Amino acid sequence: MKDKFSREISYLRISITEKCNLCCTYCMGDDLPPEREGREEELTPEEIAEITEAAVSLGIRKVRITGGEPLARPDVVEICEKIHAIPGVEELTLTTNGILLKEYAKKLKNAGVSRLNISLDTLDAEKYRQITRRGSLRDVLDGIAAARNAELLPIKINVVLLADFNEDEIVSFVELTRKEPIEVRFIELMPIGAGIGRTEQYLPGETVLQKVPELTRQEDSGVACLYRLVDGAGRVGLIRPVSRHFCPACNRIRLTSDGHLRPCLHCSEEIDIRHLHGEALKEAIRQAILCKPMEHEDFSGGKVSGSRRGMNQIGG
Ligand code: SAM
Ligand code: SF4
Repeated sequence: MKDKFSREISYLRISITEKCNLCCTYCMGDDLPPEREGREEELTPEEIAEITEAAVSLGIRKVRITGGEPLARPDVVEICEKIHAIPGVEELTLTTNGILLKEYAKKLKNAGVSRLNISLDTLDAEKYRQITRRGSLRDVLDGIAAARNAELLPIKINVVLLADFNEDEIVSFVELTRKEPIEVRFIELMPIGAGIGRTEQYLPGETVLQKVPELTRQEDSGVACLYRLVDGAGRVGLIRPVSRHFCPACNRIRLTSDGHLRPCLHCSEEIDIRHLHGEALKEAIRQAILCKPMEHEDFSGGKVSGSRRGMNQIGG
């Protein structure tokens, strides 16, 4: 269905947990929470399927599973199977930090997931431990290989651009696309959750084009502006929510793991749809779509997201 501004809303992002097996500084903040911390009010697989089915009846065609870390939830495969079985779901994808992917890649493929976005902010093992405070780079690289073997393709790698952290690795990340048909997507750090107060770490997406001027422009895809090395097998994406926000093209709504629909990532509005069924559930989803704002406030002059939840609570 269309929102008030004639945008066709066809994409539902579902956070299935706020918990995570990593603790990335810009996502979770400086205090190290205990492992798997999070609310215990997660929607069940049945509730997630019921909400998705209602959303599909209103025009949702594409579903992405996210979190927190979705693979940290033991019933993630069951959730994917249930969503995949809903007639009208044309594409099921998932965003993960990749740590548990070696174990899950085949199972996800068999459950109907078609492809993955894997988050990886550095190719250096020591820096990886530093930014995630818990993770091992080896596990992610093994996870990427497992995703390739399971034909969860094309693989997309999400890299949050961070000044004084991975600026010096931009060229190495772009090089990954020369021989392999992967997509490396550089994402600007947003002032949301633990990203607030880290403006000194923000790097505009343009930095990538300055570091690798030979990148040539391709057709845009969704929220990403795409580029390619002349002889590149893969592609490079720039996602610039801060320097060039893409609200006019936004086609998504979000569901939190505790059953709240969020019309916009950066606004505080949420609609509690847990315990709603049938027509009441559909009507609540309709209302969420209709109250999608035209755009969120821009982040110039130190303004920050209006969201009261952090990224691990909403899903990136
Ligand atoms: N745990 C999974 C992962 O890391 O891929 C899924 C959830 S995570 C919240 C989704 C994406 O949000 C990740 O790529 C992460 O780097 C990104 N992210 C988290 N905080 C962010 C921020 N303040 N600005 C931009 N991206 C952020
Ligand atoms: Fe966990 Fe993903 Fe947030 Fe890192 S970015 S702490 S992996 S939810």
